Amino acid sequence: MTDSRRALPSIGLLLESAGVRALLETMPRDLVVSAVRDVVERARDNVAAAPMTTGAWSDAVATQVTQVTQVRRSSLRRVINATGIVLHTNLGRAPLSRAALDAVLRVGAGYTTLEYDLARGTRGSRYTHCASLLRELTGAEDALVVNNCAAALVLALNTLALGRDAVLSRGELVEIGGSFRVHEIMERSGARLREVGATNRTHLADYASAIDNGTGALLKVHRSNFALEGFVCDVDVRDLVPLARRHDLPIVHDLGSGLLISLASIGLDGEPTAREALNAGASVVVMSGDKLLGGPQAGIILGGIEYLSAMRSNPLARSYRVDKLTLAALEATLAVYREPDRALREIPALALLGASASELHSRATRTRNALNAAGIDATVIASTSSVGAGAFPQTELPSTAVALPGNADQWTSKLRSGDPAVVGRVRDGHALLDMRAVPDDEIDLLIERVIAAHD
Ligand SMILES: *Cc1c(COP(=O)(O)O)cnc(C)c1O
Repeated sequence: MTDSRRALPSIGLLLESAGVRALLETMPRDLVVSAVRDVVERARDNVAAAPMTTGAWSDAVATQVTQVTQVRRSSLRRVINATGIVLHTNLGRAPLSRAALDAVLRVGAGYTTLEYDLARGTRGSRYTHCASLLRELTGAEDALVVNNCAAALVLALNTLALGRDAVLSRGELVEIGGSFRVHEIMERSGARLREVGATNRTHLADYASAIDNGTGALLKVHRSNFALEGFVCDVDVRDLVPLARRHDLPIVHDLGSGLLISLASIGLDGEPTAREALNAGASVVVMSGDKLLGGPQAGIILGGIEYLSAMRSNPLARSYRVDKLTLAALEATLAVYREPDRALREIPALALLGASASELHSRATRTRNALNAAGIDATVIASTSSVGAGAFPQTELPSTAVALPGNADQWTSKLRSGDPAVVGRVRDGHALLDMRAVPDDEIDLLIERVIAAHD
């Protein structure tokens, strides 16, 4: 028997082969050299399985390079959202505006006035940032920003109703995805949940008869991801106000998504803005920063000075405090809302939701034409998209999609493994790329990824 180890090529020889030289044109040299070493090492350990031809050797090296780069890739990766769901919680909800990103860069790269008062040269408060803008944009007396809306709700209830009852309609026991239920989060605040009414109908008298000496607050939770229809009845905040006044109880309104301006001009109607919720008489309104507001993850608390200063001095506020990057992004996002038309254009979530049928169609035809030219038999079809993240749950937004030919599972798994990954949707056995959440400036990249997934 001959010593088959002799048959193994040297590392230098492999680096000179055409296949590996081609790899070196796009990949860092140290990465390729170490892949060549690994492949030769493995062949030495298992000579029977060693590649037989030069081509097979360079294929093995290429596979090794791919595996190593996948391991080295960061875990939080960029995704092109072709699902048609604009505020997709699993894909990070709202994309940030240019203004917000610039602010993050400016503030994150150095030191800031996070807790420093430049006028006095003394310690300042992190809570002053965003507060005046929020007051201006919503008419609230006072405002506080925490980590997210769930934290805002816990902080509000822990401050206002610790050890006492928070009265909530059975029609508002909302589960918000990831199997978290708003009322279960609330109970951890130390407030006792007092459910009233029936699933479909709750009356003012139900709230009234639940109130006693142990009541701390009345609670309204926005039905953010479902709708009740048929024989239904509930009580508006406006109608709860006289009852709350009589018993000197605060009304806490969890708006969830939280609009700052009306979106009726882009066809989204029927949810209250933060200003409207406050005007209706809520003592405290809580909402998310990264849903329809279109900013970073944050919980925004609006309401009367006496309630909010009590929340600020609650030790829990410390554990829910936000980072400077969040404050920078939120402040810049809020500033855009001073001009509502600019917000509709420049806040990405709003711009995507407001895209016209012809814009969506032109994104789709551009994509299809490029794919057709690359030999992929894609077609343009009508589709429906949605807002997502618990806002306008019943609204279906007409959209346009590109349907890819052939095996849907193969497409979706290949598109997911690219960089950036593309996450689409499957309908009737076809892989679809919905154009609603793909901005114009991402179309070329989308086309490139689809062609790469096809090869
Ligand atoms: C989304 C939502 C929440 C949770 O908001 P986060 O910012 O994700 O913590 C709470 N309440 C309602 C009604 C919601 O829709």
